[in-house]
Amino acid sequence: MIFKVDGQCPKCAKKGKKISLKKMKHHVDDISYLKEHFNYYICKNTHCEVVYFNIMNEFLTHQLNKEVGYKQSSSSDALVCYCYNIKKSQLNENTLGYIETKMEEYPCACGTRNPYASCCLGEIKKLLKAKRG
Ligand SMILES: [Zn+2]
Repeated sequence: MIFKVDGQCPKCAKKGKKISLKKMKHHVDDISYLKEHFNYYICKNTHCEVVYFNIMNEFLTHQLNKEVGYKQSSSSDALVCYCYNIKKSQLNENTLGYIETKMEEYPCACGTRNPYASCCLGEIKKLLKAKRG
């Protein structure tokens, strides 16, 4: 028997990061499942299929209107940078520098466009590190 704890992913038990309902509305395919009065969290575990969850239910990768390139199960066409359209398959050692150059001229909008509602650079660094092995 698994006891549900607010803020802890119901599938992998990792601690989630809080996200507002307003931000989730950009990414969930059917917003009628979103309920007020719950705390919503993001599961950033790359091996876990859960993207968002609350104490009652969870939103898996296929319940989003975009693929989450940070999840291991995503295809190579999934985006890892949602502001400048960089796919997982395009990821290389120059990606970070490329994004930073873009940001200087065209400030990013990760809060709205990225399913994790935060800057992609941290997640990209993690992916590159995993790629190096
Ligand atoms: Zn999880």
